[in-house]
Amino acid sequence: MLSGKTAVITGSTSGIGLAYARAMAKQGANIMINGFGDADAIEKERAGIEADFGVKCVYSSADMTKPDEIHAMIHEAHKTLGSVDVLVNNAGIQHVEAIEHFPVEKWDAIIAINLSSAFHTIRTAVPYMREAGWGRIINTASAHALVASPFKAAYVSAKHGIAGLTKTVALEVAENNITVNAICPGYVWTPLVEKQIPDTMKARNMTEEQVKKEVLLAAQPTKEFVTVEQVAGLAVFLCSDTAASITGTLLPIDGGWTAQ
Ligand code: NAD
Repeated sequence: MLSGKTAVITGSTSGIGLAYARAMAKQGANIMINGFGDADAIEKERAGIEADFGVKCVYSSADMTKPDEIHAMIHEAHKTLGSVDVLVNNAGIQHVEAIEHFPVEKWDAIIAINLSSAFHTIRTAVPYMREAGWGRIINTASAHALVASPFKAAYVSAKHGIAGLTKTVALEVAENNITVNAICPGYVWTPLVEKQIPDTMKARNMTEEQVKKEVLLAAQPTKEFVTVEQVAGLAVFLCSDTAASITGTLLPIDGGWTAQ
């Protein structure tokens, strides 16, 4: 389905982003992966995508807090892979702390990575998509783009911001055969979720088991974590021709969380 197209996926060295990369490569897209981590592990993932799916896969180490690096990453994808057809804004971090103690530098980093980086990728990629006459922009938002939870001021603000950015850009490019949507997962079992358990234990004075049952899965009526494959499957669908009229939407994939 995506044969000959290029997908740039931010924050794809781990978790949901890596699942997007593999799912889009499976559809034939050449891939630019991005993110942090151990260099050998990243190279293994990159080479694995090429070997498993017979596509080209390149890695960009661009830091999503740095507008110049983000801008250069999109141009580099176009130069090395020939186009920028699918853009997935997925890089994200979390910090869990009460508002009066919330570190200013954590606020700034979360707004930069989870929200502003998408502004910078989109503003650079849209001219290429307009020129090609086709494009798909997919933002990984969150159930936290639709509802809030305590102690996540920066994350919830950034995700509500990405919802606004999604709708606005969708309107601007609606006549250019470019769709812009946000996927809003509930709790997906990835390193991002695993890492917030100790802080949530501290903030709520709970045990690990209590955090999983009473905080995380309590929000999800299915009582199951969403899987990275399910989220990636939705992104692949959004890239299909069948999804051409879906634009400007926030699509929950949250086990019923935001139905409550
Ligand atoms: P993860 O920690 O497994 O992956 C995050 C990725 O972002 C990694 O590749 C990391 O290297 C990258 N990253 C972090 N800072 C970066 C920076 N400055 N520059 C470039 N890359 C950077 O987490 P995940 O759970 O897969 O999260 C991916 C996205 O999904 C995030 O936007 C997150 O908010 C969103 N999300 C996750 C869940 C969940 O339950 N896991 C739920 C809803 C939304």
